[in-house]
Amino acid sequence: MSAPARRSLPVLGRLNETAIAEAVRREIAALFSERPSATDLGAAAFDLYEQALAQVEAKIPPSRPRACVEGCAYCCHLKVAVTPVEVLRVAAHLRRSLPPKDLARLSARVREVDAKTRGMSTAARVGAKVACPLLDAGGRCVAYQARPVSCAGANSFDAAQCKAGFESADGDVDIQYYGLQPRVASAVRAGAAAALSERALDGRLLELVAGLSLALADGEIERRWWRGEPVFDAAVDLEAMG
Ligand code: SF4
Repeated sequence: MSAPARRSLPVLGRLNETAIAEAVRREIAALFSERPSATDLGAAAFDLYEQALAQVEAKIPPSRPRACVEGCAYCCHLKVAVTPVEVLRVAAHLRRSLPPKDLARLSARVREVDAKTRGMSTAARVGAKVACPLLDAGGRCVAYQARPVSCAGANSFDAAQCKAGFESADGDVDIQYYGLQPRVASAVRAGAAAALSERALDGRLLELVAGLSLALADGEIERRWWRGEPVFDAAVDLEAMG
């Protein structure tokens, strides 16, 4: 399946989240005629996120450079909301890229973290400081090429502020960042979720670790999700769903 064409998404003169979500919904909906896999749809959502962000940045650039670099992973201790196709894409990436022993070890770590964090609110996760199980010892994401748009939307102008926030008891530290970036990510997520729901597929937002734990435990999960089975019920992120 080909990536969505580089058409101009409707950013207009300022960030228009509703228009971005609608454009993404339309683009993803159009892909169904190509009989995509969940991975294809997750990859398309990420591609559309990058297109939309590039347009937003061209019109309203960040006030300063972002400080985010490989190995800096304070934000990888926060709760992440994802669409089902993104979590299925991460699971497929891990199955494809890791040798069986490493995959088994990683799956066990995902289960452990899930047991600690299942049902925690965003605020509770800030205090808990539990690392995403996909972080390696060097603070790199082992699924970086397949990471969800929410992860890509996290950013900061100052890593020292992220460090201070991470080290504080409640995370109550002022962190300056390019605020339009997570808003674009959230609009893309909403558009992708709407396109799935329209096809009577489960497009509810999931908590990443819980969703991944379910996805790695069941080799048939993608097929069952396509059949409309509520395979991700236990991972639905009610907080992210508003
Ligand atoms: S999936 Fe990757 S980028 Fe996202 S929180 Fe986990 S380690 Fe960080």
